[in-house]
Amino acid sequence: MQDLAPSTGRGLDALEQRVRTELELLKYPELPWVPPRQVDGKAVLDVLIVGAGQGGLAVASMLLQERVDNILVIDAAPRGREGPWRTYARMKTLRSWKTVTGPDLGFPSLTFQAWFEAQHGTAAFEALGKIAKEDWNDYLLWLRDTLALPVENGTRLQGIEPAGELLAATLEDGRGQRVVLARKLVLAMGIERSGQWWMPPAVASLPPHLRAHTGDAIDFASLAGRRVAVLGAGASAFDNAAAAPNCSGCSPTRQFPIPASCAIFASSTTPRAGASCTIYCRFAKPCRRRPGTVAPAIETFTCTPAARGTN
Ligand SMILES: Cc1cc2nc3c(=O)[nH]c(=O)nc-3n(C[C@H](O)[C@H](O)[C@H](O)COP(=O)(O)OP(=O)(O)OC[C@H]3O[C@@H](n4cnc5c(N)ncnc54)[C@H](O)[C@@H]3O)c2cc1C
Repeated sequence: MQDLAPSTGRGLDALEQRVRTELELLKYPELPWVPPRQVDGKAVLDVLIVGAGQGGLAVASMLLQERVDNILVIDAAPRGREGPWRTYARMKTLRSWKTVTGPDLGFPSLTFQAWFEAQHGTAAFEALGKIAKEDWNDYLLWLRDTLALPVENGTRLQGIEPAGELLAATLEDGRGQRVVLARKLVLAMGIERSGQWWMPPAVASLPPHLRAHTGDAIDFASLAGRRVAVLGAGASAFDNAAAAPNCSGCSPTRQFPIPASCAIFASSTTPRAGASCTIYCRFAKPCRRRPGTVAPAIETFTCTPAARGTN
């Protein structure tokens, strides 16, 4: 990771001015055009967007650009904790290239590169390997503020019901529940709501201090010196295996740590009933199969010696 000189803020001020000018030049249609609507004296939203991650923010930006202004974006998380970047993503950088685009909607001055260079200069961007996940999170917050997106944090969608030709959404915040009416609803709730965080019953039934899901807040420092089984073979499994302190310090001769004293389950999908699960490890040596030691429901233990092995 690069050591960057702190930004003076002047570059960012100039960039924000450039964004305003570009938006002004592309201001067509000029006025909001959707007729406002009320039901029993209550204003109806044109669009309610649930989720202020990059997906929800991009939808909101596009709607405002098209002058559909009567919108609201809600997110259950507090400001700055939307999505995985400062929560359950453990890696230091994004996996995408640093030139990734998307939330900018095609405006060069709204790209990550423009935001980064405005603060640190072009040479720093050239030297950058990949985008630090915290920088990506800050960039998304900057987009949201610069475009004045109407986001309400700490508000969770609890239910949706039809209300004639409208939709009634029940929202809950720290003060209680309220129902809002909307013409359209966009669900941009990310990985978290595309299913549910799931663990095999045998793992879920372990005492909470002995197991975690990758979606949980995990105190990795407390795992130091313990044997940790990472169950799963996808990106989150490697992400968490790399973050577990004892894994990074393992000796090359050590075998896959089974029996383990705790388990991290790394899958957001529910396996087919009766399917066998495979545990991959990062170690150079082959491991022994010891069924039934950690999670009796897991039938197959397979080690891939070459898989991201650093030892
Ligand atoms: C470790 C890791 C690394 C990744 N690396 C990359 C990468 O390099 N490049 C890439 O493109 N993608 C990466 N991803 C994928 C990343 O999750 C998505 O690209 C991105 O977060 C998707 O944005 P989103 O807006 O769809 O969802 P999210 O960013 O997940 O946002 C969804 C939001 O919805 C909110 N929400 C959920 N339910 C409710 C509710 N009921 N009420 C109100 N709010 C709710 C959540 O609080 C959350 O803030 C990575 C993911 C992980 C876990």
